[in-house]
Amino acid sequence: MTDLTKLSAAALADKLTAGEISSVEATRAHLDRIAAVDGDVHAFLHVSDHALEVAAGIDRRRAAGEALGPVAGVPLAIKDVLVTTDMPSTSGSKILEGYMSPYDATVVARSRAAGLVPLGKTNMDEFAMGSSTEHSAYGPTRNPWDLDRIPGGSGGGSAAAVAAFEAPLALGSDTGGSIRQPAHVTGTVGLKPTYGGVSRYGAIALASSLDQVGPVTRTVLDAGLLHDVIGGHDPHDSTSLSDAWPSFAEAAREGARGDVLKGLKVGVIKELPDAGFQPGVSASFRSALAAMEAQGAEIVEISAPHFEYGVAAYYLILPAEASSNLAKFDSVRFGLRVDVPGGTVEDVMARTRDVGFGDEVKRRIILGTYALSAGYYDAYYGSAQKVRTLIQQDFDSAFASVDVIATPSAPTTAFRLGEKIDDPMQMYLNDVTTIPANLAGVPGISIPSGLADEDGLPVGIQFLAPAREDARLYRVGAALEALLVDSWGASLLERAPQLGDSTQGGAL
Ligand code: GLN
Repeated sequence: MTDLTKLSAAALADKLTAGEISSVEATRAHLDRIAAVDGDVHAFLHVSDHALEVAAGIDRRRAAGEALGPVAGVPLAIKDVLVTTDMPSTSGSKILEGYMSPYDATVVARSRAAGLVPLGKTNMDEFAMGSSTEHSAYGPTRNPWDLDRIPGGSGGGSAAAVAAFEAPLALGSDTGGSIRQPAHVTGTVGLKPTYGGVSRYGAIALASSLDQVGPVTRTVLDAGLLHDVIGGHDPHDSTSLSDAWPSFAEAAREGARGDVLKGLKVGVIKELPDAGFQPGVSASFRSALAAMEAQGAEIVEISAPHFEYGVAAYYLILPAEASSNLAKFDSVRFGLRVDVPGGTVEDVMARTRDVGFGDEVKRRIILGTYALSAGYYDAYYGSAQKVRTLIQQDFDSAFASVDVIATPSAPTTAFRLGEKIDDPMQMYLNDVTTIPANLAGVPGISIPSGLADEDGLPVGIQFLAPAREDARLYRVGAALEALLVDSWGASLLERAPQLGDSTQGGAL
């Protein structure tokens, strides 16, 4: 029998609809896979104890002839930043250890309504601050390609779960790259939607003007299928767009079969310094562009002079918003409370926040509080907001002459655990290509472009499109994916070391 964990969500959905397999079988296969490999990978913080029951319910409804959605019965992993009523939601922090939410995030509620089967909650950097999951209060996730390396962050758990075939679909959140950078280092697909395209209701806020929830998958079509489930207007989110969105799965299907690359204008940013990129990353990027060019795409050099200031602006705006959002973790309303005998309420709050927050969270709260303080507000926060506007203007003028912008998704392949943990600046520089999309609110996708020559690790190519043009990313992403997978002969993940296969020896 086919190994159900190796199938895409689209293929699983076809088999479920045709009655060839049950959701219980699909779910059990993934739970078994989690049991076999997650001791090594640590993608999950919590595995659901009632996933099989949920799956059985879907099977019963299907047997009764109920018309179910296109992905009903397919298992799903959920980043722990998203609140769930039936599993703890910690956002990777000790301050929320064991926290049970009284409501489901909208994206979770929509996933359940579509018949997706939640497998569990995935690991992440604490409150989504980081690029490696090493800032999780519950220990890091490991990259399935090499267990000594990071799976990216903050959503390393979701990306690793998908890359290690523990789940066909996962939900992530992207404030500065936390969906796309993990996709880049794990050979998977991740898309950050247009700001306002997917509800933030029930996504534990990091920086509200930047946060977006999105799909983490192994194929572009699967990302479209999940995006179709979670996207669209939500009255619970005041920044939710009221647009009627096209089907993203349909856009992906169109891309895979059509000739969307012919005549496509692909912008390449001339100011993006080649120097900061690992040679294998640049080489993979250039060969993906050449493959597109061979299909009739036109590569156009564009100028985005303020891109390079994105990291500096982001690391003022994000801490400012985060310091405000995290003020609610005060020992009174949520999660942890550390008593101070004989102390005042302020003593209890201070002690709880001292014990409950990790170093990176404290660093950003201090930075953000400082940037927002009277006397410094204009110099830091105000200036950063001006840079944000300049970056938005860069995008506007670029998109006047190109259809999409392409960049490598991140500067390097997966680095080793421990390599950058003590150097916040090095960690922040990972986000150089992903941050501008969040600052401008435009959508971005990362798809695998190949393996770097020097270390054999996956590399991703990022495409950016104007706001509301998410469907364009699915078309272009699926077109390039089809081309590359064809030339490789199989999906990139087929070349990853086979975890949990004892014949391979060692941990891999
Ligand atoms: N690496 C970025 C940061 O540390 C990304 C965060 C995110 O997208 N949640 O802020």
